[in-house]
Formats: sequence, structure tokens, C-alpha cells
Amino acid sequence: MDQCRAKLESTSLVKLYGEFTGTSNRKGRCAVILTEKDLVVQRLTSAPVGRNKVVLSLKDCVGCRAYRGNDSADKAAYLVAYFYPLKRRWMSSKVSRQRVEQGFRLASLQDPQANLEEAEKWARAVRERSARQQFPRNGVLMSQMSRPCQMMLLVNPQSGKGQALTLYNNHIQRMLNEAGIKHTLVITERQNHAREMVKEADLSQWDALVIMSGDGLLYEVINGLLERPDWEEAIRTPLGILPGGSGNALAASIHHYSGASPVTSEELLVSCGFLLCKGLVSHMDMVSIHLCSSPRLFSFLSLAWGFVADVDIESEKYRHFGAVRFTIGTLVRLASLRVYKGRLAYLPATKDHNSEEALRSNTMLCKDRVPPVTLPAVRDSSFHNSCHSNNSLKVRRVESTPSRSATKALPGPHDSLLPPLDQPLPDDWVVVPEEDFVLMLAMYQSHLAEDLLAAPEATPDDGVIHLFYVRAGISPTALLRLFLAMEKGAHLTTNCQHLVYTKVRALRLEPYSPKGIITVDGEVVEYGPVQAEVHRGLSRLITG
Ligand code: ADP
Ligand code: MG
Repeated sequence: MDQCRAKLESTSLVKLYGEFTGTSNRKGRCAVILTEKDLVVQRLTSAPVGRNKVVLSLKDCVGCRAYRGNDSADKAAYLVAYFYPLKRRWMSSKVSRQRVEQGFRLASLQDPQANLEEAEKWARAVRERSARQQFPRNGVLMSQMSRPCQMMLLVNPQSGKGQALTLYNNHIQRMLNEAGIKHTLVITERQNHAREMVKEADLSQWDALVIMSGDGLLYEVINGLLERPDWEEAIRTPLGILPGGSGNALAASIHHYSGASPVTSEELLVSCGFLLCKGLVSHMDMVSIHLCSSPRLFSFLSLAWGFVADVDIESEKYRHFGAVRFTIGTLVRLASLRVYKGRLAYLPATKDHNSEEALRSNTMLCKDRVPPVTLPAVRDSSFHNSCHSNNSLKVRRVESTPSRSATKALPGPHDSLLPPLDQPLPDDWVVVPEEDFVLMLAMYQSHLAEDLLAAPEATPDDGVIHLFYVRAGISPTALLRLFLAMEKGAHLTTNCQHLVYTKVRALRLEPYSPKGIITVDGEVVEYGPVQAEVHRGLSRLITG
């Protein structure tokens, strides 16, 4: 046994060592070692060491607790740790998070209280070390949510196939308990219920607002927060999302930002649940949206017109198929491809602007911000040049001073880049020369749907709108090819002459046809002229 201990201890820096039995099999003894990074369990048998050793990374641990058994005559205490390591599925090349529970019985001491204290010491040490195993990713510093924390978990029972509550019962409730996260379940009763509730809520009670639905429910919550008189503080409440709908684009984006390989459905839910339990918070951009006669809106995901908006809304009738509804809708629309006429203009994102903006938001918004990743200014110069002469004809210089800009004295950030919707645009805007489109899609997160990586370069707080449009003239087959390539985020490398991609800070779209569909975060909004401006890192998102 000493030999075994010596061998284990020599492998890495041991923090704790103990010899326990399993929870069900009291005869099977094991040596347990806690290092800075791993929990190592070595079964003590005469078989060769390698076969009986399990190494669990603390990065995959969501929680650990100690408790006494139900039998008061039992002097033992119990220790249980919960892990969600990435594992290859049986007969599949796919990797997803799968639950592993490690339980131990500690009974070496005569005093039951002393056994419990020993188990608690272990539980604390495991929790502290797994919390320390979080590193900033891609230069984004994330702060960890305070523990114990109190979450409001909003569930839309109608979202997706109507299974959000079942999914909560089957996966999420247990996971949050394992992580020691207290939560209050709020089941929405109707559309806009969540929006009204967060508008009035006492936010000091909540460490986070978590949505279990599709993107539509988060859209409600964000707009409710930004309608409050204390919007500036309210929008800094950490927000979380668990995929329970049919359009789970933000959940898929968060999973993608974590660096894991793509998954869908319940595997995506387990991944997002795991990341939520990890509780790391990053900044998220918000985009303000101006429409002709509706009040200003806020958007965290997308603004769409043409093919994508039509598919999103027309596929509502296939809702009971879940996320597959978009595939069905795409095929139906491809069969009767339409051309959408309108005028599109945008303010390009530049490298300089992004560094300036970052400095400003560092000092103004929050203390915990780190210098952001600088963006390459991607602009198709030939395209830009070709439309420049048009610009000078069409666009008059307008100073976007606060008094003349479109923001009224309403809650929410000031839009410094947008003149009122009926006024001409400043001359540093680019007007797209085409007027015939198949789609216009503005994205600020990576995914458009669970399996559509529309903006592969997007990060939650890059401060840019990733603008795509497809010119009319594309064949249905070529468009289908684009969407198929988008599953892997490869559509930008297909060399499709009809697809244009550029990074912008603001845009304006004026559709010409009197009827049509415009969506914001997958929700229908007033059809007609629309303009948008990005506000870098305005909100907080739990990304894990
Ligand atoms: P999905 O991805 O399945 O579309 P969403 O979260 O986008 O799921 O929700 C769809 C719509 O349902 C949104 O417009 C949302 O505002 C609305 N909604 C929220 N709660 C309810 C409810 N209890 N009953 C009906 N609709 C609701
Ligand atoms: Mg939706």
C-alpha cells in the first residue's frame, strides 16, 4: 500500500491523500489523491496499477459535497464529486460531455463528526481547485460568479417541441444541485410575461437570470432589462441560456466559444448546463434596432431580411419537429426562391475604431474589463471602391450629434452613429450598389441555429456586426450549397460570387416592397426601414 502511495505521489503535486471505500461496495478500497489539476482514484487490488486507475480532470468537475448517511448508527461520512468529462460516444466519432459521479465512504475515525469534517475538508478542496482550473480564453478575462449564488431560471414550456420542462427535470435540476447553485424556477405563462417580470423585478435578489427556451425568451428578457430606468446596471446582470427551444443559436454559440466540437439537442443542453455551472461571465455586445414607428429594440443575436427571415417564420408550422424545422423550411423556400428589393448601407468597422471603443468602454462601463482582441478590418476594397462614387451622389454629410441622432430620452444607451431613420446617412457610410437581394443577415454571435455556424469569427464582445448579404442571381443549388457549407462555417471559403461578408458598426436597410418579413433574434418585428448600431460589451453572458 505504501508502495502504491509512493507511486501515486510521485506523479504530480499531491494536495490530499486518503484511503476510502466505495459508497456501494464497502470492501473495495481505493486510494484517492487530489492534485492541483486532477482527482486520481486508484483501486487497491493486486491487479496492475494502470487498469484500476481513474484520473478525473478538475476542469470537468461541477461540484463536490460531503454528507452523513441516513443510518445514525453508521459512523461513516460520504464524499461525492460530479464530473462531466468529454467522452467519445459508443460507435461514433462524436465527443460530448457525459456525467460521471465518484462517491466515497470515509470511516477511518471512530467519531462520526470527525469523519464528516474530513469529508468536508476534501469537498472544499475539490471545489476550490476545480474553480481555479478556469483560464481566460482568447484574451477575454472572465469573472466568476459568486457562490453560493441565486439564479432565476425562466422556462418557456411552449418552446421547441414543448419539452423544456421535461428537459429541466431530466438534466438541469440535478446539475444545478450538484453545483450547489440555488435557483428559483419561473414558468412563463404567455408571450412577454418574462419581459414584464424582469422589467419590475428586484434584481438585487438575483446573481443571474437564466433562460431555458429558444432565443426568443432571452430577447424578451434583454428588452425588459433595457426598458428599466436603472437599465445601465440591470443589463449587467449575468445572463445564461440553456437550449430548450427550436432556435438555440446563442446556446450553440456559447458551446462553440468553449472550443468543444459541435453537438446538438440534449448533448448541447448538457454542455450548456455544464458551462452554466462553471459560472464564468464574459461581456456580450448588444445591438440597438430602430424601426419606423415601433419603439427602439435591443438584439443580441441577429437581424434578418429575405430568405433567412422567411424561413425562420414560415417554419414555425413545423415547430413540433424541433430544430429540424429550419432544414425543412430551407428546402421549401429554396423551391420557390425569391428576390427582395431594397437599399442597404453600412458603417464599416475599422481597426482604429475598435481600439478606441475598447478604451472608452474600459473606463466607462466596468472595472473588470481587459483590453479586447483587436480585429482585422476586413473589407472588400474592390467592392468598397466600386460603390464609392455612388455614395457621393446618394449620401449627404449629416453630423450625428446627440441632438440630431435617433435616440430619444428613453432608457438604454445612446446611439451615436445613427441619424433618425428618415434622415440621410453620413458620408463615411457605404451604400451597397446592388438593390436585388436574396438575403441580408446581420450576426453578432457565431451561430444562426444549432447547426449553422454563420459567423465563424464572431466572439461575444468583438464590438462588430458581421454583415452578410447574398445578391440576386444565385441559383437554388448554389444557395443550398452555401447553407450546407455553413454547418461547418465553411461558406466563406466556397468562393461564392454572390455572397458578400463585411464587418460593420451600424447598418440601415430600406426594403422597397410593401410587404415582407424582418426578424430580430428570430422574432418578427415591424416591416419597413430598419437601422442598427452595435454597443460593445454592454451586457454580461455566462459562457463557462
Ligand atoms: P423557440 O426556439 O422554440 O421558438 P423561443 O424561446 O424563441 O422558442 O419562444 C418562442 C416564442 O414564445 C417567443 O416569442 C416567446 O416570447 C414566446 N413565449 C414565451 N413564453 C411563452 C409561453 N408561456 N407561451 C407562449 N409563448 C411564449
Ligand atoms: Mg424562437
